[in-house]
Amino acid sequence: MERTNLAAKSPEQAIPTHSGDNLEFQVETANETAQSEVSEAFSGKLTPTKVLSLQRTIGNRAVTRIMREKAGVIQRERTVLTGSQGNTVLKLQQKLNKLGMATPALAEDGIFGPKTLAAVLAFQKARKLVEDGIVGKKTWAELKGDEGSKDASGSAQNAAAAAAASSPADAVSGTAAASGATNLPKESAPTVKSAPPEVGESAPKETKPESPASKPTFKQQFEKELDSIKLDMAAITKLVNEASPAERQTVWSDATLMTKAFDEMTNDDYLTIVTKLRMFQVGTTAEDNKTHTSATDADKDIRDKLSAYVAGAVKAGRQIEGMVGVVGDSDWDRAGEAHYGHDVWFNGPPPKDPKKDLINGFVDSKDRVWIHKDRGNAGTMIHEGLHKYASDKILNDWNFDMNEGITEYFTRKIGKSLPTPIARGNYQEQLDVIEPLSNVVGEAVMAGAYFDGKLDEMKKKYLEFRKGKGDDEAAQEQSWKDFLKDMDKERYAAALRRIS
Ligand SMILES: [Zn+2]
Repeated sequence: MERTNLAAKSPEQAIPTHSGDNLEFQVETANETAQSEVSEAFSGKLTPTKVLSLQRTIGNRAVTRIMREKAGVIQRERTVLTGSQGNTVLKLQQKLNKLGMATPALAEDGIFGPKTLAAVLAFQKARKLVEDGIVGKKTWAELKGDEGSKDASGSAQNAAAAAAASSPADAVSGTAAASGATNLPKESAPTVKSAPPEVGESAPKETKPESPASKPTFKQQFEKELDSIKLDMAAITKLVNEASPAERQTVWSDATLMTKAFDEMTNDDYLTIVTKLRMFQVGTTAEDNKTHTSATDADKDIRDKLSAYVAGAVKAGRQIEGMVGVVGDSDWDRAGEAHYGHDVWFNGPPPKDPKKDLINGFVDSKDRVWIHKDRGNAGTMIHEGLHKYASDKILNDWNFDMNEGITEYFTRKIGKSLPTPIARGNYQEQLDVIEPLSNVVGEAVMAGAYFDGKLDEMKKKYLEFRKGKGDDEAAQEQSWKDFLKDMDKERYAAALRRIS
């Protein structure tokens, strides 16, 4: 539901109404000569001659826009990352394919999934960029630099920045803006001395509708809320809910701003906002050297592969997207300490066994899911996601090991059926009991217990099995109790004997 609403609400997708955006459109649609001139001009040293030539070709304001973008004032392409969708992602996929960053080539579907992420990471690694999987200003610059000439060097950017600050192009007339590319003289002997008429010094410094200050960005609004005297969590939540994934990323990826949020909010409010921001720190998972599966993909995998079992859960609105934070050390500790308490999290029961080092992810008491960016494997998100779809009855009425074993059973089932299968060794001991148990009671019955809380039916199947082994009613009941107790006490071999 969130996903479909986002596109409409995202300011980036709004129909441009002011001249700045119209001009940007003109640059985009300018003829090929203009396009190649632009990339050429920015590939080398940006000289005044080149600036003038560009102004003639595509117009003053358009040049100013490009310069600002180059100088980092305007980000022309949206920042995109895992979970992003739309034309910008499509553009990204086309560029990555052109550069051969994915084998086989990426599906150009405008959806930023794990494969696009892998290609981005490969590209960032090849270009010695920060390998964070986030396609922001620097990665875009590098991607675009490849289209024209190879060297979109820093000096060109600096020149552009300086030019943007001092060039007369900053003061443009409305007519030049309106006329755009086509009306400007093209090959009329550009010299440094004579500025083209539309760059007249007399042109009034007019307001710049494209200025970032004119409409506060989501990030600015978010920060403004943090600065207000009385923190309004409802307003912040509304703001976050209405933001696009890329906008949210501008906030969660800013460590300083997040620290400020942590300082301003209660612990609990902060943690909820982290999940609502869809924090997804890109790391390298220790067990398989991959990145975590996105929450969107985990939802999709669970619903696709277990469609026979999760109808009730889906109907009840269960999902992991928007409920999970993939976090680094500081937020891992914030979430873990809040849920497990300081001592268990940092020290653990004797002999010193800190919880923080033992687990890859967990669901907290507020139903928020936490995954450490560098721990676990590509299946961790699916495992934690399944906990979200599950009824909590197995954990509450039976025990932790039954719950984890069955969660792992379905995690493996999904992982095995994916195009790129996920190998896991997690909760192997529990699973070694749950797998034969699923044969005893039947997978569908086990799913009914796990997802829909139909515990009695599963117990009944167990009793029937014991009956077949010659147990009378009292013995059947006792065997079930003992089985659960064996699981709870981690006597897996004993539990296994009862179902053999
Ligand atoms: Zn679990």
